[in-house]
Amino acid sequence: MTVQGFFSAKANAASRAYAMPRIAVIGRGFSGMMMAIALMKTVRFPFHLQLFDPNSTVSGGQALASGRSSEILNSRVRDLSVSAGDPDDFNQWLSGNAPFRSAVPAAIPGFLQIFVPKSIFSDYVYQRFSEAFASRRDVTVQVSSEMVFGLRRIRGERFVVESDGAASAPFDMVVLATGYGLADQESQGGDLANIPTTVRARRLVSRPHTILLGSGLRVVDRLLQMRDNGYTGQITIVSRRGFLPQSHTRNNADPVFPADKMPAQLSGIVRFIRSACQAAEADGQSWQSIMNGFRKHARSLWRSLPAIQKQQFNRHLRALYDSHRNRLPEALHVRLKQELAEGNTVLRRGHLIRRTPTGLLLRPAGKQDTEQLYADDVIDCRCQAPNLSAPLLRSLIDAGLAVPDELGLGLAVEATGALEVSGHAAGALFAIGPLGLGSLPDIDLVPEIVTQAYAAAESMAERFHPQCKAV
Ligand SMILES: Cc1cc2nc3c(=O)[nH]c(=O)nc-3n(C[C@H](O)[C@H](O)[C@H](O)COP(=O)(O)OP(=O)(O)OC[C@H]3O[C@@H](n4cnc5c(N)ncnc54)[C@H](O)[C@@H]3O)c2cc1C
Repeated sequence: MTVQGFFSAKANAASRAYAMPRIAVIGRGFSGMMMAIALMKTVRFPFHLQLFDPNSTVSGGQALASGRSSEILNSRVRDLSVSAGDPDDFNQWLSGNAPFRSAVPAAIPGFLQIFVPKSIFSDYVYQRFSEAFASRRDVTVQVSSEMVFGLRRIRGERFVVESDGAASAPFDMVVLATGYGLADQESQGGDLANIPTTVRARRLVSRPHTILLGSGLRVVDRLLQMRDNGYTGQITIVSRRGFLPQSHTRNNADPVFPADKMPAQLSGIVRFIRSACQAAEADGQSWQSIMNGFRKHARSLWRSLPAIQKQQFNRHLRALYDSHRNRLPEALHVRLKQELAEGNTVLRRGHLIRRTPTGLLLRPAGKQDTEQLYADDVIDCRCQAPNLSAPLLRSLIDAGLAVPDELGLGLAVEATGALEVSGHAAGALFAIGPLGLGSLPDIDLVPEIVTQAYAAAESMAERFHPQCKAV
């Protein structure tokens, strides 16, 4: 939905806003929109907010809004509230939404346990954003359809945003919410610049054949979309480790976790979790409950691990962990299993050597020799880490305003998202969402992003008005 006009009345007042704190949010994905909501609901004093993103639409998050109505989120409604301290908020919104109620009348008394399409979640986020804005006559919001390629620190700890649009006045606070980067990676000039996401090869095979790279939710989304659109050709999923997403349970899988002290070493932790899962299953509970419970401990555990063990986790266990935390609604998991059982979709484990004009060169797992896989299309569905060589992030790192985390997955951040440089929080610079993935486990998921955005807003409120704090 394009709603530029909606903001114009208040945006015109932006010139008045220079006397009040100016906050820039770079990126209008879910993290950026969530940050805007949290600021408007948390910070009590007037401020000016400018939201940058080259994609001109304003929605509940670009990636989510672009989802088709058939694309289902993999989290339950109970885990998707954007209201601090009110986990029922999304359920309430759905209950008051007449079109949704008429389409899904059976989920009575509430919708907490169900899975909904991405587009519905995006509508909910957008509506909460609009309401938060409407309730703040003292806040101005300006939407800028610009790509930001740098930040420059000036005197008085303020920042000039360098973008491909008109120059704006300096900002007191800047929030990076650039997630996985621009949809078109080529414009960032990063490592991916010369690798097209889709390779169209000459037809060398009698039957259409598509290769999907990756093993996460994006692969499953793409596979099922292709089948829904009538694609009957062969599909090969190529994945290094071969861990496809596991299934949610039919029951609630409320979080549980043993009270015993967890071991300090990574290998001991893995054994501990495995035996907790086995005990839960033997007890009539599900391993999913244990994983949900484990997520509540993940942050303190991660902080306590030495760097070498974090690296080991990243190399050997992350794919396995991701397949157990990012789960598929049961019905989709059944479809995935059927696809694989029927043989029209095949999972190949191996190392991608390179793309070729006719497909790709693969080193199958456990083999020395390489193999050419021929295909009409190769579609990259791997979940890329944030691109640290994107101009904006590069400029921050080069200027010493940010440092990569110890795994090089993103930027070093505190729990509030405040950028951490030499062990100290930067104070005026924040990174919300997946940019902090190497510092904070699960910070790419909605509940963690929501918590972080409110914590960042509180921290900003304190920085400006120590006596006022938050609402
Ligand atoms: C398909 C999909 C399904 C998901 N399903 C779930 C789920 O079921 N449950 C769950 O908890 N989580 C889910 N997630 C994960 C979670 O929602 C994401 O981690 C979240 O969307 C990340 O949002 P983001 O805004 O940080 O990043 P992104 O979505 O990557 O958005 C970043 C934005 O920043 C903009 N940008 C980038 N660089 C610049 C720049 N230099 N200047 C200006 N703008 C810039 C981009 O244009 C983009 O709009 C899903 C994510 C996706 C993509």
